[in-house]
Amino acid sequence: MADADKTALDAAQARYAAERTKRLRADGNEQYSELAGTFADFDTDPYVEPGFTRDPIVEETTAVIVGGGFAGMMTAVELKRLGMHDFRIIEKGGDFGGTWYWNRYPGCQCDVESYTYLPLLEETGFMPTRLYSSATEIFEYCQLIGRRFELYPHALFQTEIADAVWHDDEGRWLVTTSRGDEIHCKYFVTAGGILHKAKLPGIPGIDTFEGHAFHTSRWDYRYTGGSATEPMDNLRGKKVGIVGTGATAVQAVPQLAKYAEELYVFQRTPAAIGVRDNGPTDVEWFQSLQPGWHAERVENFTRCVTGEQPDVDLVKDGWTKVNWVNTQDASSPEHREELDIIDFEIMEEIRARVDEIIDDPATAEKLKPWYGKHCKRITFHDEYLPTFNLPHVHLVDTDGQGIERITPTGAVVEGEEYELDLIVFASGFEVTTDQHRRLGFDPAGRDGVRLSERWHDGAHSLHGILSAEFPNLLMLGIVQAGFGTNFVHFLQNSARHVAWVIEHCEGAGINTIEATPEAEEGWLMELYMAVGGMPDYSGNCTPSYYNSEGNRGPKAARNLTYIGSLLDYDGFLQRWRADAAETGEHTGARTT
Ligand code: NDP
Repeated sequence: MADADKTALDAAQARYAAERTKRLRADGNEQYSELAGTFADFDTDPYVEPGFTRDPIVEETTAVIVGGGFAGMMTAVELKRLGMHDFRIIEKGGDFGGTWYWNRYPGCQCDVESYTYLPLLEETGFMPTRLYSSATEIFEYCQLIGRRFELYPHALFQTEIADAVWHDDEGRWLVTTSRGDEIHCKYFVTAGGILHKAKLPGIPGIDTFEGHAFHTSRWDYRYTGGSATEPMDNLRGKKVGIVGTGATAVQAVPQLAKYAEELYVFQRTPAAIGVRDNGPTDVEWFQSLQPGWHAERVENFTRCVTGEQPDVDLVKDGWTKVNWVNTQDASSPEHREELDIIDFEIMEEIRARVDEIIDDPATAEKLKPWYGKHCKRITFHDEYLPTFNLPHVHLVDTDGQGIERITPTGAVVEGEEYELDLIVFASGFEVTTDQHRRLGFDPAGRDGVRLSERWHDGAHSLHGILSAEFPNLLMLGIVQAGFGTNFVHFLQNSARHVAWVIEHCEGAGINTIEATPEAEEGWLMELYMAVGGMPDYSGNCTPSYYNSEGNRGPKAARNLTYIGSLLDYDGFLQRWRADAAETGEHTGARTT
């Protein structure tokens, strides 16, 4: 490495460390509040008419799936493929879609190319209209999947789980709901999503604000006017503040700027923003795709972003350029230095783009991200940065400290109050908090032991899916399971596995299946082996949900995800299924 490069790299890394230190706080995840409780109004579903009622249902079914997002829908589709039609889907929202039901904020779109992100494209024949689909299109696509695979008759919408209790004598779960339902089922599948529990920053005085406020995942078009596709005319003449500059804010800010009289963007840590280059689908190309194209493209994308460098990069976008190779994969000190340089150069490019776009040098400095490329999910956008050149858009940088306090009339930063009519909280979602907290209920396994009790020191599972003492509980989530840039790829594989386990147990006359405690510890070791140098890497990152807000505790050490390639994680699932099918052995699981 040239001396000049080395000096620049060292300087950047010193700045990364300083920016991290500035932001570390003892309260970590506790700095946030749930939307429930004091802020219950924030959690109201703005997309349904109030007053919905229905008669309670009392029934026996083979499986209950909690969650009607992609995870729940794909599990249902896989079950149907295997010839199983006896199941229920229970969903809090008023329709299918999950993330894409709740997130209807203006500008919302998927950040992974639609042709790889959207599932079941060959089965439905659906052609996304753009490279990166709008949330509106994706939500409509979820509804299309619901119709095409006849999932609607299985669904109970606007329904939340009250409790789920395993009855050993019956070999059944009893699932009760907010609508008074009592559903007995043999298998209980949790597919609640990873970014569904919205959080609010615990800013002092947040509950004293007398203007209007909402979270981005509960966008109140009744207040703003318009819709995701129509002008938000009610914002004209209004002073609007948006808290947060993550992936959500990056998409919403340009839209708010079109209508608000004054827009204040309260920034704690700048986002890294690469080139998006969205555009219409090349219809001729799409129509020329041959059977099998979708699986090939999905896999190729995952190979590229996990640094495998296949012969061809089919997607060729910002993600495949940034990819997921980092210092954890270094095979030698020289290789590590090489990866450090790649990381640095990518971030330098992102910082240089800020200078190119932003007119005011002081504002440009504040918008530059000073952390490594794997510290936060990189965003890609072409309109966000130019918005800050508009005279009525104000970047309120808080130098890593966040908003000082909220008053009845606005927000205070460094002693200065910014008067606001509306505060939009783009403050994200709980990701690494306890499983039962994110699920919104606490399943009781054998002998009434709750998941929160058995997992008091963090997760215990085989593949993140089965857990000891929780017979026939199948969990779809990232805790101790896979993860990937294209999250739907992970969900597709996991849904296939979960449906297979259910169908296999039914076919083999198995009454119960659960992990053994020994296998859970063995799986934890696999997870540790896959981690490599990632803890060191994220130990130098500014806090975020990626590193549990910078707090490493014993729980965080168990609540990790499989950091290796998603394809490797899926390899574990595939080998497990192959063994079970061939030998009848359910490695690491106890069956009765
Ligand atoms: P994030 O957690 O990424 O961002 C939350 C923002 O709120 C951060 O900028 C955070 O600052 C800021 N914040 C928190 N507390 C305060 C405070 N007290 N004062 C000021 N600012 C504060 O949430 P998002 O909703 O933006 O994104 C979450 C994830 O959702 C993404 O990582 C992505 O995976 C997914 N997503 C995907 C999209 C897609 O296109 N597929 C689109 C949008 C989101 P700080 O960084 O300092 O913590």
